[in-house]
Amino acid sequence: MSGKTHPWGVPPWAIDFRPKPCVLPDQVDLAIVGGGFTGLSAAAWLRKLAPEKSVLVLEASSIGEGASGRTGGLALADTAAGPMPGLGDVLAGYKKILSALRVDAGLELPGVYELGRSNPAKDSPICWSDAGDLQVVRTVPGGPVDPGKVVAGLARAAEPAGAQILEHTEVHVIEYSNPLRLRVGHKVRGRFQQKEVRAAQILLATNAFSLELSDLRGATQPKLTLALATAPLTAAQLKASGLSSRRPFYTIDLPYLWGRLLESNGVVFGAGLVPMPTSGASLFGKPSQHAQKFASPNLYRFDVRKGEAEESFRWLESRVHHLHPALKSARITHRWAGPILFTEGMRPIFRRHPQSENVIVLAGYNGHGVALSVYLGQWAAEALLGRRSLPSW
Ligand SMILES: Cc1cc2nc3c(=O)[nH]c(=O)nc-3n(C[C@H](O)[C@H](O)[C@H](O)COP(=O)(O)OP(=O)(O)OC[C@H]3O[C@@H](n4cnc5c(N)ncnc54)[C@H](O)[C@@H]3O)c2cc1C
Repeated sequence: MSGKTHPWGVPPWAIDFRPKPCVLPDQVDLAIVGGGFTGLSAAAWLRKLAPEKSVLVLEASSIGEGASGRTGGLALADTAAGPMPGLGDVLAGYKKILSALRVDAGLELPGVYELGRSNPAKDSPICWSDAGDLQVVRTVPGGPVDPGKVVAGLARAAEPAGAQILEHTEVHVIEYSNPLRLRVGHKVRGRFQQKEVRAAQILLATNAFSLELSDLRGATQPKLTLALATAPLTAAQLKASGLSSRRPFYTIDLPYLWGRLLESNGVVFGAGLVPMPTSGASLFGKPSQHAQKFASPNLYRFDVRKGEAEESFRWLESRVHHLHPALKSARITHRWAGPILFTEGMRPIFRRHPQSENVIVLAGYNGHGVALSVYLGQWAAEALLGRRSLPSW
């Protein structure tokens, strides 16, 4: 994360990898727009499968600065819409991909509690007070992972394999010519430069941002969601509140709440959605004319410590403190927000761009993308290389 005063707040983990500075190339085989889980997974696989192809990742801010570095870190099975035709086993695939790329991110899969306000399981270890009695309804496959380590690990796998990763480099416009032309705003030593990069193929892995580029404006809903972390809890607090199994949890009814333990025994809790601002500007800096017309809202300048977001944080904090007497005194150490892209039917979007067969769009995991983004990032790499078709969802 870039600095402790980020207007979206800072989560309690670090991304301890910075790509090597490099010069923006004029031409590449494969350009990936977005340096989150999706883009970095695709980049690492592209170089693994086709080391002869040049691969360039263009990231408007810093790697992981979108949802991936700000996520909850619950690795879950399937998609937000459940299993999809031909999807396969997401969790098994995720584990295999992390292992093949030597990403050691502390992934554990002990299961995840689904909590509900009716029909509790016998002997629910959790009994919290939150708009009714919140108890375990069932345990589903999944478990926690350290998101900072996944972002850093994927980038660490991609770069030495030959992928170039350029941070502070925002794609403003794509010209759907042959080759494709990306108009890019590039920050070099604090100064903006406009450049053009030609690419044979593009993967748009921009999630809730740059919706004009991905042709998702109107068909999807970008939101910011909120999370906080507590200081480490004592063993007695964990036991009393039912958290000593270390299983993550999420509610299956409303009001929504999810969470998980950190290695430190602090607990992350998340809930709440606030709208994204929608002014036409650049993601990170002085916008060009093209950026003003086409690129994303200036999301990174939206301050979640004010207005509706601040109120939502206060509500979340109060809910956490009232869940159980053992959590009443839990000190809040971190508050942060991150983007989620909601789609029709909660189905992920994985398709060719309407303007070009050579551009693939992969986004819209509906808050269910920790394992899925990495898993489908690998699939996207195979599709770009013509080794696999895209799904029909
Ligand atoms: C608070 C929070 C909690 C979550 N918890 C969970 C969870 O517990 N389990 C789960 O499964 N999922 C969870 N999710 C969802 C999951 O984190 C995301 O689905 C996943 O991280 C998406 O990864 P991504 O790479 O597609 O997108 P991102 O990580 O958002 O990456 C997109 C990147 O593209 C860059 N970009 C955008 N436009 C441009 C441009 N024009 N030029 C260059 N770069 C650009 C952005 O800067 C960004 O870095 C959560 C999300 C949030 C926000």
